[in-house]
This record gives sequence, C-alpha cells and structure tokens, in this order.
Amino acid sequence: SSWWRNVEPAPKDYILGVTEAFLADRSPDKVNVGVGAYRDDKGKPVVLECVREAERRIMGSFNMEYLPMGGNATMIEESLKLAYGEKSDLIKDKRIAAIQTLSGTGACRIFADFQNRFLIPDHLQIYFPAPTWSTHHCIWKDAHVPQRSYHYYHPESKGLDFGAMMGDIKNAPKGSIFLLHACAHNPTGVDPTEEQWREISQQFKMNGHFAFFDVAYQGLASGNPEKDAKAIRIFLEDGHPIGCAQSYAKNMGLYGQRVGCLSVVCEDEKQAVAVKSQLQQVARPMYSNPPVHGALVVSTILGDPNLKNLWLGEVKGMADRIIGMRTALRENLEKLGSPLSWEHITNQIGMFCYSGMTPEQVDRLTKEYHIYMTRNGRISMAGVTTGNVGYLANAIHEVTR
Ligand code: PMP
Repeated sequence: SSWWRNVEPAPKDYILGVTEAFLADRSPDKVNVGVGAYRDDKGKPVVLECVREAERRIMGSFNMEYLPMGGNATMIEESLKLAYGEKSDLIKDKRIAAIQTLSGTGACRIFADFQNRFLIPDHLQIYFPAPTWSTHHCIWKDAHVPQRSYHYYHPESKGLDFGAMMGDIKNAPKGSIFLLHACAHNPTGVDPTEEQWREISQQFKMNGHFAFFDVAYQGLASGNPEKDAKAIRIFLEDGHPIGCAQSYAKNMGLYGQRVGCLSVVCEDEKQAVAVKSQLQQVARPMYSNPPVHGALVVSTILGDPNLKNLWLGEVKGMADRIIGMRTALRENLEKLGSPLSWEHITNQIGMFCYSGMTPEQVDRLTKEYHIYMTRNGRISMAGVTTGNVGYLANAIHEVTR
C-alpha cells in the first residue's frame, strides 16, 4: 500500500551487524569477540545449573494469570537485598519504590520516562560517562530527556580520567542526575577504586546530585555480587537517595527472559507508594504488566538458600573464567614480544576489554584474521577461550606492531 512509502530501512544495529558478518564467514579460524554474552571455554552459550534446577521446581506448578502491575514481589524483594544489602534499613522501612522490569533496558527506559514526567525542566537531564553503553543514548533520547556527558575514560592510560570526572561532577548544575555503572563499566571495563567511589559520593553529596546506578553485571566483575555492590553501598552509607536499574541477563544468563528491577529510594514509605504507583503508570500503556516465567526463575533461585549458593558458585565460575582469559591474553601478547603495554587488559574488569586498538587495526583483524569485534576496539572477554586466545594474541600483535 502507499501508506508507508516514506519509510526507509532503519540503519543496521551495528553490534548485530558484527555477529551477522561473523556467521557469514566460512573460515575455520573465525573468532567472535563482539557480542556481550557469556560463553563457556568451548565458545558455547551457557544455561546455569541453578536456572535448570529452578525450572524443574516450578514446572507445572504455576498458573498463567497476570502478575500484579509491579511484578513478582519476591523477585523484587530479593533484588533489593542483592543491591542494597541483606540488612538494609531502606528495605525494612519500605522506603524503596521498586517494580519488575523488562531486564536492564526496560528499567532504564521506565526511569527515563519517569524523569520526563516528574522533573521540572531545570532538572530534566541525565549525565552519562563518556563513553557509555550506546543504548543509553537511544533510551533517554526516546524518553525526551536531554543528555550531557562527564569525563570518564582516559585514552592514554586506558584507565579512569578521575580528575576530569570529579571536575565535571563539581561543575554540573547543583541537583543533577548522573548515570553511574555500578561495576564492570561497559564498554571500557574501567571502574573507580573504592577510595575513588568514596570521593565521588562525597562530591555528589556536596552538589546535591542524584546517582542512578546501572547494575547490569553484579557478580560478573569480581565473582562476588556483594563486592560488586560496593559503589552502591558507599553511596547508601553516605545517605544518598539513589536509583538502580538491575538486570539478570548476564549474571544469571537469563538474557532472553528479560528479567530486571527498577528501584528508586524515597524519603518515606508514603512517597515510595506514590512513586511506585507512578512507575507502574509509565509501564501500563507500554506493556501493561511484566512476564511471569523469568521472574519466577529468579525468585526461586534467590529465595532458596541452597539454590542461591549454587548461583553464587556459578557466577564466580563465570567471572573467574573471564579473569583467567585476561591474564592469558596479556601473557600471550607479552610472550610474543609486543613492545606495547598490555597491563590494562588485566586492570580492566568485567565482560569487556577496551583494548586501545584503532578502527583501522580492528578492520585488519577482521579482514586478515577473521576476528570480529566492534570498531571501538572493545573485546568481549567472554568470547575468548583457551582454544582461541593464542590465535587472538598473535593477530593483535601483528596488527599493532
Ligand atoms: N546496561 C548496560 C551497561 C549493559 O551493558 C546492558 C547489557 N548489554 C544493559 C544495561 C541491559 O541489558 P538487558 O536489557 O539485556 O538487561
């Protein structure tokens, strides 16, 4: 029909394009270090044993009625304990407004729309680290929230540009909203140290800023979800009313199940009730209420001490494999006699390594060595295996010498 004649194809999603090109490549040597999903040492997708066990337990035991608009209450409570701490007074005092969301993306989107509905124009903005997960830009753009950026990555040191970051926090208008990656910053793998987090929190306090934590990798950075919540806990100790977007995609391997949680700390229970009702109101015209299955898997795992322990062991297993591959990649490069410093490979943390390779060097990796990754030089460490790390190191050495 003529109705949609003016519709041009949307630009291809860049990261999905990398996967497509990888799949089309017939070389037996090909390596995909582009996608941000965990793989085992054979390069295969993983379903955690705790997830399989939870599925066995719930199979056939639940009906398919709608969840309440806010979602699965046990899943939400367990999520809050994970982020805010088992003994958090905020939870006890019912000061946190929280709803189940369509994974981390959905949590970000609901928060962005909530900002748009309730902030006066002077406060309607969000500060992102430079760089940040590219979807952040798309989410807040669609929610019509103006975007600013703060210094974060320091290309020369391939670490944190702490001084410039603190300067930006100081100079932002009082009462600004900042997005912070709670751990395992995507795409750089660069996190502030504990001491730096304390300084950041103090500066936020002085300027009356609001911290919104994107918590997409809790457990996958250090192997311990408690340790990976350090930044959040520091802000809570300092009395900040934070917000969190939590995702179970990576740390439970529930990517396609779309389970997450959005939470916002309020002044008291009454405010939390109001805020929660408005968060639900944002979700209502988009998808009404969230899906049942994945949230039930999460609540079954986190609500049972044995299953939770099994999960803790498995998330540590994933993190340890990634950390091991960082060491192996760096050692291989050093053994090849690369004159460059590859220390940042092991200094950075989480799923990604911001290698410092140029787009041209990445192009050569793909053309000459069938190695697929994003042109910003980001290596997904989860795609590195005992079997391909030597090949990968050699190729990186060749294109950077
Ligand atoms: N935030 C960051 C920084 C991420 O890297 C991701 C996953 N790529 C997400 C949020 C959310 O992903 P999902 O919607 O699959 O939970």
